[in-house]
Amino acid sequence: PPVAIVCVGMAGSGKTTFTHRLVSHLHNRAAAATPPTAPPYVLNLDPAVRSVPFESNIDIRDSVNYKEVMKQYNLGPNGGILTSLNLFATKVDQVMGILEKRCLPQPQAPATTAHAPPSPASTDPVPDHIILDTPGQIEVFVWSASGSILLSALSTAFPTVLAYIIDTPRTTQNTATFMSNMLYAVSILYKTRLPMILVFNKTDVKDETEAVGWMRDFESFQAAVREEEEGEREGGIGGGGGYMGGLLNSMSLVLEEFYAHLSVVGVSAATGDGIEEFLEAVEGKREEFDKEFRPGMDDRK
Ligand code: GDP
Ligand code: MG
Repeated sequence: PPVAIVCVGMAGSGKTTFTHRLVSHLHNRAAAATPPTAPPYVLNLDPAVRSVPFESNIDIRDSVNYKEVMKQYNLGPNGGILTSLNLFATKVDQVMGILEKRCLPQPQAPATTAHAPPSPASTDPVPDHIILDTPGQIEVFVWSASGSILLSALSTAFPTVLAYIIDTPRTTQNTATFMSNMLYAVSILYKTRLPMILVFNKTDVKDETEAVGWMRDFESFQAAVREEEEGEREGGIGGGGGYMGGLLNSMSLVLEEFYAHLSVVGVSAATGDGIEEFLEAVEGKREEFDKEFRPGMDDRK
């Protein structure tokens, strides 16, 4: 079966741009293959996005009108997104029905007469990837009941991988911002219990070397904390010394274990750099999903 890739991340991290890049990359790959294979199956779950730059097969905006929801229920933007997602989640059975029909090989329909042509669906190639873009505001998807419903339905039917998109230049501005972003990733990993790839995006502006260094070697992170305290690093939280630096140092030790479970890639959604590496990481996580996240469930269709 195809692997489902769910793009999550802070508002502005580049989820939509990344989805767009991934979708066009996979479209090109499918068209270049001989014989041509199926393009990815794409879902937009952001009800508030004005225009979706990629072609989507299922779009939440086709079933709920975010502006109308806000008006009708007298909600602000976040409440509007959440309520739209709730309304969409009530149709999860329908959505899963479509996904299973489009993305799993269909059993050959029994021929009604001896001369009936074979059902075309049985020979159609199925996509290798299902890609989901989620609302700009991460908490609306990750911490809502409807987000959980959608994720658990998806991961019951398909191996599912989270792509946690990070705005690299922003998150490496200082060690505290980096740490809070990593803690957010931890909490999502433990909440969803799905394999996760950290995607350091916007490497055209700043590459991922420093961030990956901070993850792989806590001494380099602690050195950066020290430089900030001594005012030698720009953007540092500076001055406060004491508790903040101590906390950051301790957290970096705690997070070592968490980092060990993650795949990390640097990409630029803007230029397409690193997309192949990302897709390789997805294959690794697909195997991990089958081994660890779904023991004893391989008898599914
Ligand atoms: P989302 O809220 O996570 O969906 O983020 P968007 O995809 O809407 O992107 C937010 C902003 O970041 C937009 O202005 C994008 O043009 C910009 N952006 C996204 N990816 C990249 C990238 O790889 N490089 C650069 N330089 N900008 C990017
Ligand atoms: Mg978006």
